Amino acid sequence: MDQAKTAEQLRLCAACPKMCRHMCPTFLAWRSDSPTPHSRSLLVYQEMNGTRNLDERAIEVLYQCLECSQCLVWCLPQVDVAAIVEDTRTRLVEQQRYPQGLDKISSMIATNHNPFGELHSKRSKWFTPAKNVGKKIVYFSGCTAAYRENGIAQSTASLLTKLGYGVSIMNDEWCCGSPLFRTGFRNQGLEEARHNADVLNKQDAQEIVVTCPGCYRALSRDYPENGVQLARPVIHISQLLERHLDELKTADFGGLVTFHDPCHLGRHCGIYDPPRRVLNKISGGKVVEMQRNRENAMCCGNGAGMRMLFEEQARVIGKARVQQARNVGAAYLVTSCPFCKNMLASQDAEGLTVLDLPEIVMASYHLHPKVKM
Ligand code: SF4
Ligand code: SF4
Repeated sequence: MDQAKTAEQLRLCAACPKMCRHMCPTFLAWRSDSPTPHSRSLLVYQEMNGTRNLDERAIEVLYQCLECSQCLVWCLPQVDVAAIVEDTRTRLVEQQRYPQGLDKISSMIATNHNPFGELHSKRSKWFTPAKNVGKKIVYFSGCTAAYRENGIAQSTASLLTKLGYGVSIMNDEWCCGSPLFRTGFRNQGLEEARHNADVLNKQDAQEIVVTCPGCYRALSRDYPENGVQLARPVIHISQLLERHLDELKTADFGGLVTFHDPCHLGRHCGIYDPPRRVLNKISGGKVVEMQRNRENAMCCGNGAGMRMLFEEQARVIGKARVQQARNVGAAYLVTSCPFCKNMLASQDAEGLTVLDLPEIVMASYHLHPKVKM
């Protein structure tokens, strides 16, 4: 964002009644006026005016933001707090003034191209190549599906094969860069991006499919905005499955299904309907909405470095989101993001089955013979 626009947005924010705080998940987690949209804007405003330096506490408050953009939905003057926070983090990283906890993730990505400290050589262990037939598609799995949520990666590859695609993966996939972009390590993120673009642009495939909305936003928005061009279109798995609605099976899941909108898929990229259409089809219309849904969906608590830096508060948010699914009587809490799935499934989800979209679609094939229409 250019400086004049940022200054104008911050000036408007300083004069606002600040009701957005009630929608901010970090206000819920800390129950304090510091980790709120307005407080973050004010810190940057004061720094611009020269009335306050960004001291250690200010930096902490700026890193307590999930960059979930929930505040933007409620903000009349459309102050983009998430973008302001991210730009400020980028400056802070350039000045070497960021929470030390982030050094670990930055160095793990530099060494092994994933934020979990896992060996790069194990990245594609989950993949068993199938006979390549049909339209060629490359699946960019992302780090979470590759190392922490193998069920999502395997279900995706099986599903794509079932739908007639010739599925390949990159032989040297690196982190998409999203955790780096979101925490201010933009230049390092771009190193990952350039490598991925070089490899993807040589891949024999017509499209790139992703399951992670963090990867989707990185590949389809952050890369081109920073001059990294991909030669093939990027599609999210929910959009691809929507194309095949007629081929999907309807099954009896024995309970209601609710959908958690990932922030990067919904508010950041405007994709709300495709996953709902898929769930409606496979469950025979047994989809129930949580009170906070679509553009008002609450973040799972795992965004923009929060779980790494403030695990306890991230968990407060994750638990609250799981409870919102229970409140509407859902038996299945489904999302379309390996990162959200991992977060929600690791909370107290007793009585709820937490699944990612390709996983529940694969389950519908197994349940299909039991369908009651
Ligand atoms: S972010 Fe928007 S709604 Fe919130 S205090 Fe600032 S101007 Fe007001
Ligand atoms: S982006 Fe999300 S966490 Fe950050 S201030 Fe806005 S609502 Fe709060």
